[in-house]
Amino acid sequence: MKVKALNGFKDILPGETDLWRKVEDLARDIFARFNFSEIRLPILEKTELFARSIGETTDIVEKEMYTFVDKKITMRPEATASVIRAYIEHGLYVKKPVQRLFTIGPMFRHERPQQGRTRQFHQMSVEVLGSDNARVDAELMAMGSMLLSELGLDISLEMNSLGCPECRPGFRTNLLAFLEERKEELCDDCKRRRSTNPLRVLDCKNPSCRQIVQDAPSIQEHLCQECTSHFKAVREGLDQLGIGYSLNKFMVRGLDYYCRTTFEFVTTDLGSQSAVGGGGRYDGLVEELGGPKVPGIGFAMGMERLILLMLQKEGKEDLHAEIDLFVAGLGDDASRLAFSMIHTLRKQGVDAAMDLDGRGLKSQMKQADKAGARYVLIIGGDELAKGFGVLRNMATQEQRELPLNDEGMRVFAESISTVVS
Ligand code: ATP
Ligand code: MG
Repeated sequence: MKVKALNGFKDILPGETDLWRKVEDLARDIFARFNFSEIRLPILEKTELFARSIGETTDIVEKEMYTFVDKKITMRPEATASVIRAYIEHGLYVKKPVQRLFTIGPMFRHERPQQGRTRQFHQMSVEVLGSDNARVDAELMAMGSMLLSELGLDISLEMNSLGCPECRPGFRTNLLAFLEERKEELCDDCKRRRSTNPLRVLDCKNPSCRQIVQDAPSIQEHLCQECTSHFKAVREGLDQLGIGYSLNKFMVRGLDYYCRTTFEFVTTDLGSQSAVGGGGRYDGLVEELGGPKVPGIGFAMGMERLILLMLQKEGKEDLHAEIDLFVAGLGDDASRLAFSMIHTLRKQGVDAAMDLDGRGLKSQMKQADKAGARYVLIIGGDELAKGFGVLRNMATQEQRELPLNDEGMRVFAESISTVVS
């Protein structure tokens, strides 16, 4: 009986991993430009952490978490809660007044798998803790946009403000009054949400609910003085940096902790999975989780969806690995020499390979080709006798002789490192 991977859990195979690394390397580069430091966190946390931060009545906590019920621990469905837990636990607010943190890794949500939606998926998450300045909001969105555009992706930014504990209750009351009038037309989920989490009705995917909320009151018209000026300052910051966006008054996001700015990076190229990333401000959360009164904001980018978009755009070509040198030794003695030679070369930083199983020249040249070798060094009986191998540049087909001794290896290693650097 063959054992297969779990439904919704995917292997990322050689070849694919190159693209993953490309995305991750670029993200690290951009996060560094914006002065973010990496934090690495455990995958398991106490269930309570997520229930308290994400919210008991959210989709994630209600139905998507992988929880070991007996042990009261959960595989993290997102990173913000863990970042804040660590921030408080290690007193990171004492070390720097404003912490800019990022983390990259797997998340787990029990959802129905489909294109762009898996049960283990990967996020790049960034958080800024310690400032409620609207420029931070603008800068974060600018950073996300920079990442997407440097990946060559054409993705739009949508933004909203959810207000604060001052102004949201007033909006909630108005929204509830509106929903009361239209309650018969709502889907079953939204009938329930009316009492548990009425704001979620605004971003219900059900077509009839979508139609109804077109007439709903707009949160943007209910913002208090301070939230209004914060929202205005965020938009000014975006304008100043030349970041395009559109306002979406229906975007409430699936997590309870957001206040003020919320945003999503959206595309029309992924079917119903339109968001590649999203985030927002969470000024009360650190305090809520037992820390000091410190504001925060963050976003998470989903890597699977980025990779899907890049594959749609670039295709799978030219993603195969490359090596510097393939040594083709023909016969036992040449093969023996090649075995120690590639070890010497590897010590000098050369990516080198050979056929360990003594196959013929034709088969070895095929292997060299598959490995993406830039050079092949051929050592047959004659070459062995003369002490010179034939070094072939695979791009130009030029050939020259290379001494089969330490000096020859050193010269080759140096020529490679000058080409690379
Ligand atoms: P969706 O509405 O698609 O369920 P979400 O609002 O639940 O998204 P967030 O919690 O904001 O997603 O996570 C940020 C990003 O993480 C998403 O924009 C998406 O790219 C990615 N993501 C979330 N859930 C999954 C999943 N199950 N599989 C793959 N990627 C996911
Ligand atoms: Mg979701």
